[in-house]
Amino acid sequence: MPDSPDVRNVIIIGSGPAGLTAAIYTARANLEPLLIEGEPSSTSDQPGGQLMLTTEVENFPGWPDGIMGPELMMRFREQATRFGTEILTRKVSRVDLSSRPFGVWVGDPDTAEPTYRAKVVIVSTGAQSLMLGLPEESRLLGHGLSTCATCDGFFFRDHDIAVVGGGDSALEEALFLTKFARSVTLVHRRDELRASKIMQDRAFANDKIRFQWNSVVTKIEGESTVEGLLVRDTVTGDESRLDVSGVFVAIGHKPNTDLFKGQLHMEDNGYLVTHDGSHTDVDGVFACGDVQDQIYRQAITAAGSGCMAAIDAERWLEANDAH
Ligand code: NAP
Repeated sequence: MPDSPDVRNVIIIGSGPAGLTAAIYTARANLEPLLIEGEPSSTSDQPGGQLMLTTEVENFPGWPDGIMGPELMMRFREQATRFGTEILTRKVSRVDLSSRPFGVWVGDPDTAEPTYRAKVVIVSTGAQSLMLGLPEESRLLGHGLSTCATCDGFFFRDHDIAVVGGGDSALEEALFLTKFARSVTLVHRRDELRASKIMQDRAFANDKIRFQWNSVVTKIEGESTVEGLLVRDTVTGDESRLDVSGVFVAIGHKPNTDLFKGQLHMEDNGYLVTHDGSHTDVDGVFACGDVQDQIYRQAITAAGSGCMAAIDAERWLEANDAH
């Protein structure tokens, strides 16, 4: 580890559509960005962001026939490296945004000197899947419990499985899983879906999907693999058992902002606050993508905001005569 690290123009933290778009733009502006993309630690936590856990993307402009999420991200990545983005497959363990140039650590967060310093930091750490909060989830994740139909759907050929949630993600997962599963039961805590009308129509029209309304999962059964679900009816209080060998949790997301607590202004729910485009409350730190967006949360809006962050960063460097 160098005693006094070189100062980079731009460090981008996170490698979803926002971070990789910021990389494409800053690389093409000759800012030689370093993008720290994260590293795989489970099927639901890997570089590339949430599209790595998505099936077919039908609404990304330019792909009229749709494209699989992981393939789309591979293409973003190729485009970023083509223009000279340096990509590091590590996790950032600490940042110091209290003075410039900013400090960024990978590996041991307790070393006095950061691993890297940067004139500009672009935060694009995204958001991650929420879990139900049941103790058995950590044991069974990857063993019948999944947050990613693309990654794991194949393993459930001819199985009876459940999807938990009532939003677009849950319906997207359920619809994709009907390609493999014998049946898919959508377990939702209310009697009305949150998902968009078009997704609802598709799900209601699919005879492999059945709906278990007003129901919450109280236990996932099984020691080494999922063997069933215990479900409580929120209206009657009755408990019942769902005989499934797989369960996909699709109940929403949490922004990945733990690294920035106490350093960047965030909402109570952890989403970063930006103003005037992608500026955070720290001069020289920009944020883009789902980490600062609780409204739109689409790949295309993340990519658009990554472009904004790159342009804001470039202008900031010029104005501060720092490049
Ligand atoms: P979401 O819209 O927040 O929906 C989360 C769902 O999970 C809700 O139905 C919620 O129930 C339920 N839920 C939350 N916490 C729960 C808990 N602890 N136990 C049981 N159920 C729980 O999240 P999302 O589906 O991930 O979608 C996020 C955003 O991305 C949305 O804006 C969505 O439109 C968008 N999206 C779009 C597409 C697409 O266009 N193809 C695909 C995926 C996502 P309640 O309804 O009762 O709150």
